[in-house]
Amino acid sequence: MYFDIREDCGDMFSEDTYDAFVLVPLFLAMYNKIPLKIRGRISKKLYKNLTWYVQKILCDFMDKLVPVDISVEGFAPTKSEGYLIGAPLSCGVDSLSTVYDRYINENDPDYKINALFIFNNGTHRSNDDTVTVTKKFFQSRIERVARAANELRLPLLVIDSNLDKFTYNNDLINLAFLINYSCVLSLQNAIRRYYVPSAYSYQDIKEFGRKPHGYDLAEFCDSYFVPLIQTERTELIVDGCQYRRVDKVKRIAEWDIAQKYLNVCCKRGRENSDNCGECDKCERTLLTLDILGKLDNFSEVFDLDKYKRDSFTIKAKNMHYINEDAFCKENFDLAVEMNFPMPTKRECFVMDKKVLVVK
Ligand SMILES: [Zn+2]
Repeated sequence: MYFDIREDCGDMFSEDTYDAFVLVPLFLAMYNKIPLKIRGRISKKLYKNLTWYVQKILCDFMDKLVPVDISVEGFAPTKSEGYLIGAPLSCGVDSLSTVYDRYINENDPDYKINALFIFNNGTHRSNDDTVTVTKKFFQSRIERVARAANELRLPLLVIDSNLDKFTYNNDLINLAFLINYSCVLSLQNAIRRYYVPSAYSYQDIKEFGRKPHGYDLAEFCDSYFVPLIQTERTELIVDGCQYRRVDKVKRIAEWDIAQKYLNVCCKRGRENSDNCGECDKCERTLLTLDILGKLDNFSEVFDLDKYKRDSFTIKAKNMHYINEDAFCKENFDLAVEMNFPMPTKRECFVMDKKVLVVK
């Protein structure tokens, strides 16, 4: 397992602890039902949290996991010298909302973001992408993110890692979140605080938290899981659970950086990372903007003519999923709040050769 950063930042790595090498092996040990032995030192705080709390949450998340013993050879130093307040920048809604609140609107230097991160660790690809497609896709994404960071006047640090090589079957795709946290923990000499933008709101986790059981660790539990992944030197803060996703969109809709760089697309298998306008994430974001009356602000990043042609179908699809999908439910609630007309009668629509009944 390795982590890699540009040469002049090498001293950011903490070489006196194995914290960055614990999370992925822990998940694998629990999956394979074998004890975990670390031949080195880790943070005492992290050790206690992993032993007492984290394993219970992971077992709730995936039925195939069992609790295991963790043995280590001692505990790492606790003196903090970190000076960075970090956050990831992907240019998605969650990430932009955190940067907007904790950088643009934050004045306390202890909490104001002063560095942005992007991790090249396989979390930007889908399983069936080829190496070439993945490389070009990440390159296209990183170029956009670098332009945004430059305009924000914040340094962007890229961390490469091979931890994704351990995601060799579908169950292990869930390692993606642990891989991101591991990249943060590798830089404990530099990172004092790190914001993890949330997926669900506190309310969504209460109402829809069982739905992502077994396949999306962040939506399942990030409001109470992330605060357990920290050490005496580096604090991870989950940011954004106080908002619904639609409220985050509303908050950044007038922000020029968001209007230029918003990128929510989840369509993979291609070299370009621009918004496709037709995947689930593009469609629901466009619908939120439509309900808010802010579509025209985002003409640089979405094909609005295409959306306007397809919008009735997108609304019908949203209505079909309001009891199953937290973000569709949020769009529906927002439409009610804004008096925005949505399909409401019981009607049938033919879409993608399937018949949808809207109640
Ligand atoms: Zn898309």
